[in-house]
Amino acid sequence: MSDCIFCKIVEGKIPAQKVYEDENILAFNDINPARPVHVLVIPKKHITSLATVAAEDTPVLGKMLATANGIATAQGSPDGFRVIINTGRVGNQEVPHLHLHIVGGPDPVGPMLKRI
Ligand code: AMP
Ligand code: ZN
Repeated sequence: MSDCIFCKIVEGKIPAQKVYEDENILAFNDINPARPVHVLVIPKKHITSLATVAAEDTPVLGKMLATANGIATAQGSPDGFRVIINTGRVGNQEVPHLHLHIVGGPDPVGPMLKRI
């Protein structure tokens, strides 16, 4: 999608601090981190949100989850982390390209996050 900020990151048109990449997914540091470790994992294919996934997207969704622990460990959250996927208006999703937040660090994240 031409006006999607995360598609532009995939295409290299705007910069990001990439921490993981393969043929289907890309992970990069959140520009406004809520915790010492705050990584966004996205499918390279534009999917708007969890509300618009198709059956054919199941493998890439599984890969995003299956890759999370390795990314968190490599980025400084080896003892666990939290995954958040904000979805749509009610979920306060700001960027309409599906993304998984990995938040963590040396200390527990806490019961809830004020912002994500
Ligand atoms: P959400 O509210 O789940 O849609 O989260 C969107 C996230 O994207 C926020 O945490 C923003 O800080 C982050 N974000 C927005 N633009 C960029 C960017 N250019 N590079 C990295 N992270 C971004
Ligand atoms: Zn997109």
